[in-house]
Amino acid sequence: MFDNKECFKEMFKKELVSQLGKPISDATDADVYNILGLLIRERIGQDWAETNQRLKDNKARQVYYFSMEFLIGRQLGNNLLNLGVLELVRDGLQELGFDLDAAEEEESDPGLGNGGLGRLAACFLDSLAAQQLPGHGCGIRYRYGLFEQKIVDGHQVELPDYWLQRGNVWEVCREDKKVEVRFGGQVHMSERDGQLHFELSGFESIWAIPFDIPVIGSGSSHVNTLRLWSARPGKGSIKPYTGYDGSYYNYLNYYRSVESVSEFLYPDDSEFEGKLLRLKQQYFLCSAGLQSILRTFDKLELPITSLPDKAAIHINDTHPALVIPELMRILMDEKHCSWEEAWHITRQTVSYTNHTTLSEALEKWPITLVKQLLPRIYMIIEELNKRFCAELLECYSGDQQRISQLAIIYGDQIRMANLAIVGSYSVNGVASLHTEILKKREMKAFYELYPARFNNKTNGISHRRWLMHANPDLSRLITEVIGSRWITQPQEMIGLIKYAEDQSFIERVREVKRINKLRLAKYVQDKLHISIDPDSIFDVQAKRLHAYKRQLLNVLHMMHVYNQLKDNPSADITPRTFLFSAKAAPGYYLAKNIIKLINTVADTVNRDQAVRDKMKVVFLENYSVSLAEKLIPAADVSEQISTAGKEASGTGNMKFMMNGALTIGTLDGANVEMYNMLGDDNMFLFGLRAEQVMMYNQSGEYSPWQIYNVDSRVKEVMDQLIQPGRFCSEGQDFESVYQSVLHHQDEFFVLKDFDSYVEAHLRIDLAYGNPNDWLKKSILNIAHSGKFSSDHTIKQYASDIWNIDSFLL
Ligand SMILES: *Cc1c(COP(=O)(O)O)cnc(C)c1O
Repeated sequence: MFDNKECFKEMFKKELVSQLGKPISDATDADVYNILGLLIRERIGQDWAETNQRLKDNKARQVYYFSMEFLIGRQLGNNLLNLGVLELVRDGLQELGFDLDAAEEEESDPGLGNGGLGRLAACFLDSLAAQQLPGHGCGIRYRYGLFEQKIVDGHQVELPDYWLQRGNVWEVCREDKKVEVRFGGQVHMSERDGQLHFELSGFESIWAIPFDIPVIGSGSSHVNTLRLWSARPGKGSIKPYTGYDGSYYNYLNYYRSVESVSEFLYPDDSEFEGKLLRLKQQYFLCSAGLQSILRTFDKLELPITSLPDKAAIHINDTHPALVIPELMRILMDEKHCSWEEAWHITRQTVSYTNHTTLSEALEKWPITLVKQLLPRIYMIIEELNKRFCAELLECYSGDQQRISQLAIIYGDQIRMANLAIVGSYSVNGVASLHTEILKKREMKAFYELYPARFNNKTNGISHRRWLMHANPDLSRLITEVIGSRWITQPQEMIGLIKYAEDQSFIERVREVKRINKLRLAKYVQDKLHISIDPDSIFDVQAKRLHAYKRQLLNVLHMMHVYNQLKDNPSADITPRTFLFSAKAAPGYYLAKNIIKLINTVADTVNRDQAVRDKMKVVFLENYSVSLAEKLIPAADVSEQISTAGKEASGTGNMKFMMNGALTIGTLDGANVEMYNMLGDDNMFLFGLRAEQVMMYNQSGEYSPWQIYNVDSRVKEVMDQLIQPGRFCSEGQDFESVYQSVLHHQDEFFVLKDFDSYVEAHLRIDLAYGNPNDWLKKSILNIAHSGKFSSDHTIKQYASDIWNIDSFLL
């Protein structure tokens, strides 16, 4: 049906009329979207079934990527792209009088993730399928995505994001593959035939219903599966373990409480929050996912000891770390393995990616919660800890301090990172600096115990979504110049280096960026009624709002630039448009206060006619994958300014680089690897290095007051946070921002890096003043970005961690 344009047009018209029962002239953009979805489903159904059959017959090891988040973004455009029919469909629709872009806008953007971690999972699925690797996603089908953000009077307001309201053409409900998940109850231990048996009674039983989404491999017929689980009350034997008395209202309450397990995604707060429902969600995912894997395995009729030859289970951060005790439980209680056997199998099956060194973000569950909700799982964790500590005692006789650092249970809490490291065969960081910090500091004791287990896999991004789909004009231009091999071999983009000084190529790159900037300017005009100058520098910071990401540093700099313009209206600065987009966790007060500050500065600046040609500030609400796809291709400058040592990798940085933006950044996360390729000529580095941050933290020698007192620029902007004037009316508006810096020791070194940041921005102004030179830098950024394709990353996971083979060739 997608073989040629005429054929597609015929199919499309037929499908539209038969599905909707209306003439094609009445079709809306939403109709076009839905019909395309149905046609694609039909087109790939056979391939999907065949891939599954091939995986079954092949009996090779498959990887299951467990993640509490899959920030997959809209599917239509990327599916068309991966099927190789995007242009054909665009042209065909146009001839029928429809606009593909408008149809794409009708798709709701599934917000099933907070940010980088969830987006990484989505990019990995895309790359697994493109490499024809047997790898599937395992997650939760949250009925509500992360909240929808509205800005009202400058404040963030959260609204529910009911992304399923209009149905979801991409999913298939596999009712027949539902599994039971049990919570609560009592464990009964008995001895039979010299073996201990454990049985649970009085538990609450709920169904996990799988919804499968096809993950289409680019340029092949390989189709993997993203399986998302939805919670529903158990049939018949409804025995809620608390409070159920048989009344109908009570039943409704019970029904709601079960459904709440897959209702919403917890926002990633500044600190770990030990909420019971979140623990329930984690176990729900782990138990359902594992049961489904084991059912597939059972069909092979092999001894259970060969499970690791058939399945690799990867956990994206510690959120799904309960797969470790849950696998132990199934192996011992249902497959009748001994402890030693079960432990051996588990440790050859599970691998783990660490995503953070921020200690306040590490998961630690109170024993009381786990014991109450998952009594058998708690027993297993306790036994595991006992055995592990006994080993440690042998190994480090008497070194109590080291043993207590390593223990899985400490005080009244279970440390999920410790559980994940002990229970898996591979632990990886997500950028080389991050992995080194894990080995040398955060997880030093574990590294010394298991040196071979630690490895690095620098994150990556799908160049199909982030370049080919988000920036088709640039993609076409690249292909024109170096041919199309880069599409399957993104590292070939390095061939663009040769054209970095080619005047005609430079002109074309300039033209593409300009078109993208005009498109964004129109979007900003339509949404916010702010007119921005496409010839100004588009300086973008788009990512979750978090103190360590230092949006505050960016704001203080803007305030300083504005102050300068007020002091000296004729100052010769390169016109700038500062663009922001960021969601803050609803309970994260400081982050929300910073959003208000950005919007307040925007208001003051944008209203001031005297600076209208020099400076604009824009905050785009509701950051999401689809907004990122609009924003990033239009950026000139990418803000990657986290406190060194705090951003594990970052992937936003890679997306901007791939679209030709120049980075202003610290030597943090993957910025370090970008810098190693680009050097000082093609990147604007500033600020403390990670070791310096650590030294100051150890010595406690840093005092923000000292900087406040000697640097008049700093004093001016800090005072403006709490004194009525340019940016605040009554003076209390930004008290918490002010205090975070001056009264709470400026934990993230905002003032310390201020001078260096201002200076880096001056270098940007200077460089932008030489357009050809700027574009050369931009081209070199694009050329080197192929290294950050997640295709490259996933190949490393496949060969070094998972040991799985591709169907390619
Ligand atoms: C890539 C991406 C992120 C991660 O950005 P960082 O700058 O690495 O934090 C967050 N949200 C969305 C929607 C993204 O596409």
